[in-house]
Amino acid sequence: MSRFSDENLCRQYMEQLRWNGHPVCPYCNEQKPYKLKDGKTYRCRSKTCRKDFTVTIGTIFDNTKLPLSTWFASLYMVTHHEQGISSLRLSRDLGVTQKTAWFVLHRIRHIVSEED
Ligand SMILES: [Zn+2]
Repeated sequence: MSRFSDENLCRQYMEQLRWNGHPVCPYCNEQKPYKLKDGKTYRCRSKTCRKDFTVTIGTIFDNTKLPLSTWFASLYMVTHHEQGISSLRLSRDLGVTQKTAWFVLHRIRHIVSEED
């Protein structure tokens, strides 16, 4: 929890895991996108692409307002409760609404059920 309490650390960790320090455009595989001022969005250099993306694109963390630190904590809790964890318990432990916890659990269960 303390290791991933900072949003930037979580993002850097994901970028290292996914790209090994070398971001790649998920749309056209261009190798040298540049980072925008917000510190997390990359823009493709390819003149025919030019799309923006972040490291979370195509992951369960994509298109949510939930901080990565909360996602990481959720993954930890879900994978460390052998009997399963309820959305009520997760909402209490994370300090989020039960609706948010239910959404998080739904996404995590979805990836856990996939073979890859
Ligand atoms: Zn591209």
